[in-house]
Amino acid sequence: REQHRPRVGCSTLCLPHMGSYIYQRRWVKLDADYLRYFDGEKDPYSKRFIPVSSISRITSIGDQKFEVITNNRNFVFRAESDVDRNEWIRTLQQIVEERKSKALERTSISLTINGATDLVDKSGFLELRGFKHKLFVVVAGDKVFLYKNAEDYRLGIGITYIEMNLGNVKEVDRRGFDLTTPYRIFSFSADSDQEKEEWVEAMQQSISEALSNSEVAERIWLVESNRFCADCGSPKPDWASINLCVVICKRCAGEHRGLGPGITKVRSLKMDRKVWTEELIELFHQIGNAVANQFWAANVPPSEAITPTSSSQERRHFLIAKYREGKYRRYHPLFGNQEELNRALCAAVTTSDLAETQALLFCGAAVNCATGDPQCPTPLALAEKSGQRLQMEFLLHNKTSEMPRLEVGGSEEKPYSVPLPSVTHNGFLYKTPSMAKPVSERKGQEEFSRRWCTLQDGILSYYENDRNAVPNGEIKVEEIVCLVNNSPHTHGIESTFEVYIETERLYLFGLESPDSAREWLKSIAKSFVHPRAEELLALDFERIGRLHYKGGLNLERAKEGWFALAGSVLHVCFEDSERQEPLQLRKLQELSIQGDNEVLVLVERRRTLYIQGERKLDFLGWVHAIQKAAGSSGDTLSEQQLTESDVPLLVDRCIDYITQCGLTSEGIYRKSGQNSKTTSLLEMLRRDARSVRLKEGEHQVDDVANTLKRFFRDLGDGLFTRQWGQDWLRATALEDEEAKISEYRRLLGTLPTVNRATLKALINHLFRVQRFSAENQMNTHNLAIVFGPTLFQTDGKDYKAGRVVEDLISHYVKIFNVNDQEMKKQQDEIMAIMKMREAASSGTQQAGDFICTVYLEEKKTEAEQHVKIPATMTAEELTFEILDRRKIVMKEKDYWSCFEVNEREEAERPLHYSEKVLPILHCLGTESYLVVKKQMSMENMLIYLASRVGDCKHGMMKFREERNLLGLGLSTGFHDRYFILNSTCLRLYKEVRSHKPEKEWPVRNLKVYLGIKKKLRPPTCWGFTVFYENEKHEKQQWYLCCDTQADLREWFATFLHVQNGGALWPSETSKVRASRSQQDSRLGNISLIPLRGNESEMRSSVAAFATDPLTLLRNV
Ligand SMILES: [Zn+2]
Repeated sequence: REQHRPRVGCSTLCLPHMGSYIYQRRWVKLDADYLRYFDGEKDPYSKRFIPVSSISRITSIGDQKFEVITNNRNFVFRAESDVDRNEWIRTLQQIVEERKSKALERTSISLTINGATDLVDKSGFLELRGFKHKLFVVVAGDKVFLYKNAEDYRLGIGITYIEMNLGNVKEVDRRGFDLTTPYRIFSFSADSDQEKEEWVEAMQQSISEALSNSEVAERIWLVESNRFCADCGSPKPDWASINLCVVICKRCAGEHRGLGPGITKVRSLKMDRKVWTEELIELFHQIGNAVANQFWAANVPPSEAITPTSSSQERRHFLIAKYREGKYRRYHPLFGNQEELNRALCAAVTTSDLAETQALLFCGAAVNCATGDPQCPTPLALAEKSGQRLQMEFLLHNKTSEMPRLEVGGSEEKPYSVPLPSVTHNGFLYKTPSMAKPVSERKGQEEFSRRWCTLQDGILSYYENDRNAVPNGEIKVEEIVCLVNNSPHTHGIESTFEVYIETERLYLFGLESPDSAREWLKSIAKSFVHPRAEELLALDFERIGRLHYKGGLNLERAKEGWFALAGSVLHVCFEDSERQEPLQLRKLQELSIQGDNEVLVLVERRRTLYIQGERKLDFLGWVHAIQKAAGSSGDTLSEQQLTESDVPLLVDRCIDYITQCGLTSEGIYRKSGQNSKTTSLLEMLRRDARSVRLKEGEHQVDDVANTLKRFFRDLGDGLFTRQWGQDWLRATALEDEEAKISEYRRLLGTLPTVNRATLKALINHLFRVQRFSAENQMNTHNLAIVFGPTLFQTDGKDYKAGRVVEDLISHYVKIFNVNDQEMKKQQDEIMAIMKMREAASSGTQQAGDFICTVYLEEKKTEAEQHVKIPATMTAEELTFEILDRRKIVMKEKDYWSCFEVNEREEAERPLHYSEKVLPILHCLGTESYLVVKKQMSMENMLIYLASRVGDCKHGMMKFREERNLLGLGLSTGFHDRYFILNSTCLRLYKEVRSHKPEKEWPVRNLKVYLGIKKKLRPPTCWGFTVFYENEKHEKQQWYLCCDTQADLREWFATFLHVQNGGALWPSETSKVRASRSQQDSRLGNISLIPLRGNESEMRSSVAAFATDPLTLLRNV
């Protein structure tokens, strides 16, 4: 400081050593803050510094010597001469006196850190090259202080300090880092790499503080009153509360922060440069410390005022009273009258009277009160309309401020539990330094440091402690890309979570209390997850974040989606959909990684999703988490990867394989297979059944059969469950067959869904196996002997286990409520498989590689698609396969379906979405083919079904029977008949009044096609062709004609409804279809192509069935 000419000179220092004084010559420097000595005159770094503030007195002790006495230690100096000594003493005394009096006048306090931990950003032991012992190092503000040990630090007597404005920090190795200055390199080494990162971070922060732009501060200080702390009077305060509009010192800022952001929003004049808009600076000129204190400090009793030297506790008391309780406020005359206050606020904000607005706001006027003006519903809008920029700025910063209120019986120990605005959170968290790699190993508790953390205004900051004003570091929430909730005890602290940011770093935080951890997670998630994905916040997610994806048929542009992983379900908010969609990861058909960890491909039954690894760090985390969630998590049934119908994929794979390759294999399930192969196959399937493809030639049927058995034998909790297993065994004792069957049915109902579905799939499979017992020698009894002990996990001596299995197979149809149609389907499937095997054995085709031609929209060469049809493929899957190949985009109400077209009959039938394709292919004659196109009437059919009452339909139709006599078609023409269609059969009556039906057909055995061949001269163009096959495989064929298009639609809808148990269209699918589609006008109007005959005839025929105008447009 200028008024004290700093005393610089040479002196001889006397150090007590071995009981005697040894003097060394040192260069000694005295300035307003420190007495320091150096090795030489040019040395920038001292050997020792003694803060002036810690010097209690200076005494002359003769022989050119003088003693500097501090609270705890004395230093003896010897000058060159007595004159010189006296000069030193005089200057020292003068500076010390000055310091004391200035402190009392509240005009001077400098950065001395006599154990005042408040100002310390980081402290601890570090090795410094050149020193034998570890030094105690303190980063505080823009300086780094070195102390010999912690005791010296407490006393305030240090070795030297480094001004960080010239500093530069760089990491050297795992634990080492260099602090470089133009004069010297300080090579530090920390205890761990985590510690090192923290030190580097703290020192970098210190450098930025030293270098920070003081432009804002200089401008704010232009107003005299802003040059001293509004609370304690310290000079040059470089902090501020931006809602209270006061400029404050660093120590007060620390206490302000403790009040919480609802009371005061603390910002640095030097570091938070972005917040300082022109408006805000101007506001600090207009309000600032003078106007603010006229209000907030109108009645401060001198006994309660604080000074620059006040302790933290004194500051805290004062600030709570001043701002939180509003104890010293100048009350507004309208205080207590809410309506009047609000009205006055609405008036004040239209003027330039900021003091009035301040007084009203902090005496209870509601910042968002209703103005009664529909044009300007809030005070903010009023201010805007009146052009009051500063009023607006002030209102904006106080949008979430709380009113001061006196707390009854409040103690200062009370935590700062102010009701916070929605996304504001603070508290202590444990934290490790940020990392650039995934956390692969367990972190011990000692690797975490306790930090005060705040989440406010879109910034997650962490501080050395809750009184610090300068954060050690901060994370902007908009940079957060992923938040991970680790499972408990992943690390040495009970609950931990990870925050990933865009720049490929991750932060690990921890808490002892799971409840608080959950609160933090929710708050952070809420702060960074886009509002459109807020549905995800309600989930108990283990991972949430944003990722780029491509989906469906539009693969040109990657979109941003929000993803949350909860259990084995991945919830996704796609860019263009409003609701989140769950993906059952255990039911995925495929999960793979493309490229070098670049794209994660998820194939669901209805769609393919490509998740892109834009950033490595969080993407890898997602990949691992999704892979884990998509895998089997344990050894019980429900923990396995599942098919759509809730059967473990492993079971499905094995059954499917045996069905295709092993039905006729002799001794199937009885032969044991090779043990080692079984073991490795089971292990592979358990790990990831999805990726295992069982192939003939590669896998032996007996190995696969044995794998299936072993899976059931080792199954946790068993297929019949521990709880109910005995009941199943007891049921075998029931003598009455009916009673036994109904008991089995009852027990079946008690099984968990997955167990029930699995049991059904297995018994269905065994039922088929025994149908081939002539070839495989495995009749029901033999199968039961094998599977009884396996499924009940018994030793095989209890015959009852076998009995249960035998009963289940024998009464399969009754117990599992299998209807004729289902049975027929299965038989068709088996026939198809057998045909395929015959073809395979005759060498014409490879098993499992059944390739068929499917057309898109129209039968013509350009529209041909060759598709490999696996035994399990459904009509819906085939449809998607075709559309995917041709990159056709679906819109929400595009009911794309697969049709079986019978050219000879000039009729077509849309396949039900769940129908298996393979058996149909095998029944197709040479004049039939499959085509994928839109089902134009579907929407109207759905509307009809939703609006009608009851399950029946009745009415008149024109009927014509085809009789084949000796190969001669004998036509009887079309006649009016009355029909009743109910849930089981279609009845034909001669006329409405007839009591007895002339004919009756079970609905399930009817195959209904749209269209009637022209040759028959149908009376209208709205007709059906119906095929009927009875139990004896006798075939009939007849025709029905409706009078109106609507009538035809209603009849057809009712047929489909009855035949498919009400499910005409997958309810989820329409949503999925909609979401995977993109509006694409180019592909918007895909034509419905006539099937047969000349174009105009076809037009009228097809148009009859659809309300949509027929469009004949383009070549695909
Ligand atoms: Zn202050």
